[in-house]
Amino acid sequence: MSGDSVINSIGAQKATRNHSVGVSRTSKILSQHPHDWWMDEALDQARIALAKNEVPVGAILRIGNEVVGRGHNGPIESCDPTAHAEIRALREACQKQQNYRLPGSILYVTLEPCVMCAGALLNARVAEVVFGAREPVGGAAGSIMNVLESGWLNYRTKVTAGIGAEESSEMLQEFFERLR
Ligand SMILES: [Zn+2]
Repeated sequence: MSGDSVINSIGAQKATRNHSVGVSRTSKILSQHPHDWWMDEALDQARIALAKNEVPVGAILRIGNEVVGRGHNGPIESCDPTAHAEIRALREACQKQQNYRLPGSILYVTLEPCVMCAGALLNARVAEVVFGAREPVGGAAGSIMNVLESGWLNYRTKVTAGIGAEESSEMLQEFFERLR
């Protein structure tokens, strides 16, 4: 593939990534995208939270080549302690799929999930969780405990850590510096 056709191909993928695509050349290419390509979508959600002065965490849920749910952290704006990015993305995805379980889905989140979110992700039967930065104080995907891979609820979720961690950490650092 020439340089130009690579660029054109990337443009086509960007244009179609928010839409469900059928069996086509484009969807074949999309399915081969590495995790960081999808994590960019979650980082966009974290930026929305940052702009609202919420702790910048973003999440998306992916089924196949489609983003079926998006969420940004927003407990302050919504007066809702459960309004974490993962929960919001799960809710949107479940409504869209009209299903309380999302088998085969992959959640991308910019920060290691907390205990509440990890429990919800197990209940939803999410197949894989890909996260960015570690959360040493409350992370439930390996930091203080590993809910996702423990086999609780007789279900395990595959965990991949460290994707987009640098950008996620920079955003969190910017947020906490503002508070000083
Ligand atoms: Zn959470």
